[in-house]
Order: sequence, then C-alpha cells, then structure tokens
Amino acid sequence: MSDCIFCKIVAGEIPAKVVYEDDEMMAFEDINPQGPVHVQFISKRHIPNLNEATEEDFELMGRILKQIARYSRQEGFSEAGYRVVNNVGPDGGQEVYHLHFHLIGGRPLQWPPG
Ligand code: AMP
Ligand code: ZN
Repeated sequence: MSDCIFCKIVAGEIPAKVVYEDDEMMAFEDINPQGPVHVQFISKRHIPNLNEATEEDFELMGRILKQIARYSRQEGFSEAGYRVVNNVGPDGGQEVYHLHFHLIGGRPLQWPPG
C-alpha cells in the first residue's frame, strides 16, 4: 500500500534499524521504544490487522511468533521474559494498520495495560 509507513520500511523508502529479515517478514526497532527491547515484527505483505487476515496469513503469523521466540533466545532475554502485543482497531489502540507484533522486554512490565 503506497501510503502505509510499514510498507515503506519494507520497500526501503523509510529507514529502520532492521534486526531480522527473510522473504516474508521483517523485524526492526520501534521508533518510540517502551523498554530496553522494543522490536516490531511485521509481515512483508500488507495485511491491515487480524480482522483482515486469511488462513494463509494466520500460518505466517505462526512463523512470526516462532521467530520472535528465536530472537529472544538469541538476544539472551527469553528466560527473563518479554511481552508480545498485537493491537487491533480503535479500541485496541492500533495506530499503524499493517500487521505487526510488538516484542517488548528488557525490564519488568506492568499488567494490566491501561
Ligand atoms: P500500534 O499502536 O500497535 O499500531 O503501534 C505502532 C507502533 O509503530 C508504535 O509503537 C510506533 O512507535 C511504531 N512506529 C511508527 N512509525 C515507526 C517507524 N517509522 N519506525 C519504527 N517504528 C515505528
Ligand atoms: Zn503496509
């Protein structure tokens, strides 16, 4: 999508600190980090959110979650723990309508969220 900020990151039109990439997903540091670790794991394909996802997209999401777990092990904070967040729609606080999973960690996190 031409006016989607995350599609522009995928296309290399907007810079990002990319920490992982393969043919179907990308991970980059959040521009407004909420912890020592705050990485966005996104589909390369433009999927607006869970409400718009197809069967194929849900299979991709499984692979994205697997990569998040792998990344946390690789970076050494898997045992300390972390949070994976997917915001959907206005009540969910979604600001960017391109599927993404926040990986937040590196500090104890509060629960419940606001
Ligand atoms: P959400 O509210 O779930 O849609 O979250 C959108 C996230 O994208 C926020 O945490 C923003 O800080 C982050 N974000 C927005 N623009 C950029 C960007 N250009 N590079 C990295 N992260 C971004
Ligand atoms: Zn997009």
